[in-house]
Amino acid sequence: MASSTLRVVVWGENVHEHINAKVAAVYPQGMHTVIAAGLRELLPTAEVSTATLQEAEHGLTEARLAETDVLTWWGHKAHGDVSDEVVARVQKRVLEGMGLIVLHSGHFSKIFKRLMGTTCSLTWREADEKERLWVCNPGHPIAQGLGPYFELPREEMYGEPFGVPPPEEQVFISWFEGGEVFRSGCCYTRGNGKIFYFRPGHETYPTYFDANVRRVLANAVEWARPPATRWVDCCPNAKNPLEKITPKG
Ligand code: ZN
Repeated sequence: MASSTLRVVVWGENVHEHINAKVAAVYPQGMHTVIAAGLRELLPTAEVSTATLQEAEHGLTEARLAETDVLTWWGHKAHGDVSDEVVARVQKRVLEGMGLIVLHSGHFSKIFKRLMGTTCSLTWREADEKERLWVCNPGHPIAQGLGPYFELPREEMYGEPFGVPPPEEQVFISWFEGGEVFRSGCCYTRGNGKIFYFRPGHETYPTYFDANVRRVLANAVEWARPPATRWVDCCPNAKNPLEKITPKG
């Protein structure tokens, strides 16, 4: 069941920040702390906490996930270090109704690939180029408070083809200075849970300080909150049919 207070866990791989001076300069306390600060700023009534790869069970114990309405996921360098047991646990919670926001290089995370069932591959380039994100549906909850488009002056390029199932709703399409385009805001449902993939957020750029990006993340977290009602999937054996079944000779 959905809780009245929105409980959000911001998960961060928290590796680049400790091995790359350029990343540490932008995010000295870690990317996850900046993502969480943006959510606290725009969703003052939400309970926002963080968890990282280095914590026991990556900070995502059964008990913690049971009390989580929406999980955000940033990972890149250490996808392979995420335990399969935790991935299975997160998948189970999504199917039960927990929202999941997958960020940037999280496209190759174990949890996103498992939930999509496809390669989640894409084209990429690091060249300090401008990204323009166009809003595909101004009426979508995740696009509220934005103009027709917004721009990030420097980002990594992600281009098509993006190896994901066709999104149920497309909220953003990105254009890059070098000419590529990309489906940069994709909505999915898996079981009772909502999933939003949002493209920007390369670790060497201050993307998570950007006001429009923060608005998108806050909107996405609200959108992905668990449904008020849900299907409890228990695969019942219907031993007693409503109608008499004629014995076949
Ligand atoms: Zn990146």
